[in-house]
Amino acid sequence: MAALPHSVRKLRPELRVHLLFLAVFLFSSFLTWRELHVLKANYEDRQRAALADMQSRLESQFQESIDGMIYYRRMFTYALAHPLDAHHARHALAKFQQLRPQPAWQLRLNMPRSMPINGVGDSALVQDALLQRDPARLNDEMLAALEFSFIMQFSDAEADFHSRFWYTSRAGFFITSRPPQSLSAISASYATMVSRPWFRAMATQVTPQQLSWSGVYQGAEEEGAMLTASTPVFNNGYWYGALSMDFTRERIASELSTMRHSALQGSVVLLDKRQQLVASLDATDSRPLSDGAQRRLYAQIARQSQGALRLENQFISWSKLKNMDGYLLNQQTLGQGLRQDLGRAMLFMLLMWLLFVLLLLLADQIIVRLVQRLSQLSARLVWRASYDGLTQLLNRSAFFERFEAEVARCRALNAPLTVIQLDIDHFKRVNDTWGHQAGDQALVRVAAIVSQGLRKNDLAGRVGGEEFCVVLPETGLADAEKVAERMRERLAAKTILVNASQSFSVTLSAGVASSEEQGEYQAIRLQAEADRRLYLAKSQGRNRVVARG
Ligand code: GH3
Ligand code: MG
Ligand code: MG
Repeated sequence: MAALPHSVRKLRPELRVHLLFLAVFLFSSFLTWRELHVLKANYEDRQRAALADMQSRLESQFQESIDGMIYYRRMFTYALAHPLDAHHARHALAKFQQLRPQPAWQLRLNMPRSMPINGVGDSALVQDALLQRDPARLNDEMLAALEFSFIMQFSDAEADFHSRFWYTSRAGFFITSRPPQSLSAISASYATMVSRPWFRAMATQVTPQQLSWSGVYQGAEEEGAMLTASTPVFNNGYWYGALSMDFTRERIASELSTMRHSALQGSVVLLDKRQQLVASLDATDSRPLSDGAQRRLYAQIARQSQGALRLENQFISWSKLKNMDGYLLNQQTLGQGLRQDLGRAMLFMLLMWLLFVLLLLLADQIIVRLVQRLSQLSARLVWRASYDGLTQLLNRSAFFERFEAEVARCRALNAPLTVIQLDIDHFKRVNDTWGHQAGDQALVRVAAIVSQGLRKNDLAGRVGGEEFCVVLPETGLADAEKVAERMRERLAAKTILVNASQSFSVTLSAGVASSEEQGEYQAIRLQAEADRRLYLAKSQGRNRVVARG
């Protein structure tokens, strides 16, 4: 206690207990918050790492196909530059000359390893400025395409990540790893392919090396939604056409599900460059974001190639893919996060903290109540030490202590001080006649009358069984005599009820002595003098006040 600063010692004990518990609460909350923060950061790091892991696996899938396409482009360009002059090649060119006016045709060599060249008629090319059969280049391109078709047959729709591989020529023909089954499908396919924006954009492309990605779109055949990666084929500054690969949503989604990382419990979403959904893996309890939150997220994704956001109680991290024009997103709800080990650890910590806070509150209440009871008890003890329990007047020792203090004060002020000594008349008789309890009741009455109308510095005490003493500082003998007389009169006028039909009254005798008249300031002497006069009053017949003689 001695170590407490003065300002704290002045506080009420309950408040001190509250403050102590508040400090413990704040400190433990701070520690818990810091620990939760670390766990949260770990959780987020793990989410990002898991997403990065999935991303690199998905990227390598795409990369494998794209690497193939870039390799084939080199091969195709080489074949364009160095056409093979073989027997079957000359045969093919002759056949082409026969077929080219037809609206749709398929050039098949009667050889086991070749894929058909699919073409449209000369007349189909006239309306489109991008399409032309340049006689100076046509033969070489046909031969290169033929040669390339030998390789194309190794494309395996089951094993490859891409579902189809194409070469689309500006000269009205295409070859593909999945050839059209009928002539009627050829013109429609060709028209669709050359009308795709990424094909048309190649005409103005400045860097022919570029790989371009389509956004997600609905495939012309039965494959559903898909993405296409394409790269132009140039030779000697002339643009021949494009190699392209299709990746279906179905295939990407199934690949994603095999790559799913155990730390990603929510949904994993692949978006294209325009933030359209390519494929997604959803948990059963995934929750879609509101439109507003979705817009905020997409705006943030457009600004930042990699990042994380907390939206509507969901943790969302994303990363832009390096070799595909799109983004991989992980979206996890609070519930999904809490099911993971780090989430569970956070929940556990939070529960422990809650429990601790509850115990703290309980302990605070118990201790405060204890402290309150103790302070009530000590206040009662302090009161008991100075006051008489029956009359509630100062007891003898407390009375004399304060009496001495008043004497000293009046002496210093050179002011008079007067003492009234009072004793109840024939009190023994009261007890004998009405019983001890009635006697006590009478004592309480007398005490009430004695203390009634006293000033702040006046003292009243019970100095004996039925004897009282009153000290009136800064008061002369005559005034004090009046006070005593008033007390006597009041008491004499009062009756004390014993029961419904019986009552009695008591009187008192009083002796008054003053420092003025005695010429001294000694408490004991003054009281003895007042006592002597009290006995004078008794001997003169009781129920009177004696202030002289
Ligand atoms: P006197 O007029 O001469 O004073 O007569 P008295 O009977 O009052 O005589 P005395 O002062 O000697 O008597 C004191 C009596 O007061 C003795 C006792 O029975 C009674 N008394 C003292 N203290 C108490 C108390 O606390 N309660 C009750 N009921 N009686 C008390
Ligand atoms: Mg007496
Ligand atoms: Mg008496």
